Amino acid sequence: MEAKVISLRSGCQVTTEQAGQLLALQREILEQVALNVDYREILDALCKAAEQIVPNSVASIMIFDETGESLTVLAAPSIPLEAVALLNGLIPSERAGSCGTAVYYNEAQYVVNTRVDDRWSDLQAFAHDFSINACWSNPVKIEKDKAIGSFALSSFEERAPSIFYKQLLETCAHIVGILLIKNKKEESLWKLAHYDTLTGLVNRNLLKQKLSAAIGEASSQKYHLAVLVLDLDGFKDVNDWQGYEVGDKVLQQVAKNIEGILDGSYVFSRLGSDEFVILVGGSGESLSVQLLIGKILALFKKKVHVADCEFTLSVSIGVSLFPEDGLSASDLLRNADTAMHAAKKAGRACSRFYNEGLTNFVKYKMDLITGMRIALVRGDFVLHYQPQYCQKTNKLAGVEALVRWQHPEKGLIPPNDFIPLAEESGFIQELGLWLFAEACRQCKAWWDGGIPEFSLAINLSVKQLDADNIKKLQAILLTMKFPIYNLELEVTESLIMHQESLTALHQLEALGIRISMDDFGTGYSSLAQLKHLPISKLKIDRSFVKDLSEDENDRIIAKTIIAMGHSLGLIVVAEGVETVEQQAFLVQEGCDLIQGYLLSRPLTVEQFSVLFQTPS
Ligand code: C2E
Ligand code: CA
Ligand code: CA
Repeated sequence: MEAKVISLRSGCQVTTEQAGQLLALQREILEQVALNVDYREILDALCKAAEQIVPNSVASIMIFDETGESLTVLAAPSIPLEAVALLNGLIPSERAGSCGTAVYYNEAQYVVNTRVDDRWSDLQAFAHDFSINACWSNPVKIEKDKAIGSFALSSFEERAPSIFYKQLLETCAHIVGILLIKNKKEESLWKLAHYDTLTGLVNRNLLKQKLSAAIGEASSQKYHLAVLVLDLDGFKDVNDWQGYEVGDKVLQQVAKNIEGILDGSYVFSRLGSDEFVILVGGSGESLSVQLLIGKILALFKKKVHVADCEFTLSVSIGVSLFPEDGLSASDLLRNADTAMHAAKKAGRACSRFYNEGLTNFVKYKMDLITGMRIALVRGDFVLHYQPQYCQKTNKLAGVEALVRWQHPEKGLIPPNDFIPLAEESGFIQELGLWLFAEACRQCKAWWDGGIPEFSLAINLSVKQLDADNIKKLQAILLTMKFPIYNLELEVTESLIMHQESLTALHQLEALGIRISMDDFGTGYSSLAQLKHLPISKLKIDRSFVKDLSEDENDRIIAKTIIAMGHSLGLIVVAEGVETVEQQAFLVQEGCDLIQGYLLSRPLTVEQFSVLFQTPS
């Protein structure tokens, strides 16, 4: 039976079956548009639908990239990625294949045999490698304008398109054009709804969304957030005296300056007028917030240059913290705003935390950091040395250097009261260098004075494990001619989390320095992970030693650590040994070295010298 022929609106004659295929394709795409499917997915679906209608073909959509000179592949779900990579960057010309020529001439191109057609002369290798023997391409236009891209069907056989196939290509190219316009409009609408037009910063709307998302993440990961509301002081004067145009430029410049001191981990937003918000995610730790505030206030000490004028501005900052000051985006914003007003009241150009108690805490920490810096200059830090004894020979095997702060008023401050803050603030780098040099100097003096050599263990914080610091440590050892084989560095398991620390560890090993894993059992690492680390010693954490006599679990843990440590060829040390029972158990299990109050407390230099002085 002869197929019934009907005329389409374009004038093209197709069979009813073919018209049905076109309709089905259009309906499928329309449905996806209505369902708000991502436009790239819709373009993929369009390609696939066309491929179904034309057997033995692959569809592709190309559009101009941002240079406006070359084409890039937007969709080609059935074309191998390496082929797509070769097509990207195609510059339209009279020899640039069917798509390149369709865009170049702004007209459909039907290449029946790619091997002989001049229009494919620049793409012969491509045609050969991917067996493209025919290729028909229709320009994609927005309205009746010049082509912005192309829709193409490439065939693995030489062939000319039927009238119906030409119609199909045209329909597909038309749909692509519509989708691109729609997407562009949506994109600019979205931008308009979420970004500040003056500064390009996130606006209030998007800030609230981002803040809510950050709150969700922070609550599940149990970390803090900080919201800083910044309000320029006296900005109204700029507007009043210089006009809004200059005022706008000043705001843009200020936004740019602040952006310059933020890294990608912050959300920076303009709420409107001269009010900005910074969302500090990640840790939102109060000290890093304080440091950021310091940087912002310092930034405003410099003049802002706009249109050959200089402006002296200042800023008042209010801070609220999650979860302390609120659990929702609006609470946090409101409370930061309240704090900002408190800063204005306090005389502007300063910051206030919503919760003053926390401010005091932050201030206390800042004072402590300053105190530590002064102490280092004044020489108020001292080292004590705690002996480690060999379980078999009962002889001194080594010492662990432990730092203390000899405060002129507060007396001797233990390291747990200041090391964490020194680490958090980065001061540990400086302090660490000093105590490293001091411990090496002291031990060298003892040995040079006749005390038999022993090994010296120095604690190293993760923050000290970087290439730069290691170079400095190496320089100290060289200058002092320190016998490296006596040196041991104690590190904790947290280093496993940082690639840079792991690299540093290997550098230390390469220098011939031994590494000992401190506080083992309290952190994240497993014995299996230890196998891959360049360590030679394990220190069983004090918490397991403490209850050895009462707690069967601790006994099993200690026993396992010793046995497995040995099987990995490591020396095992027990620290915090206070009783004879603990020692007896550890000795029985074969623990190599014992450290603890039972045998000796950490000793001052004088105490150590008296105890170990060899009689002359
Ligand atoms: P740590 O490295 O685990 O040091 C062992 C701690 O256990 C020392 O406390 C030591 O005095 C204490 N200890 C030793 N034997 C016993 C015992 O039998 N019973 C009890 N209850 N405690 C014992 P210290 O000196 O207060 O040091 C505390 C922590 O401070 C150290 O723990 C270490 O993490 C850090 N630290 C000390 N000095 C330095 C240093 O120079 N640099 C760095 N980065 N951290 C240090
Ligand atoms: Ca230690
Ligand atoms: Ca320890």
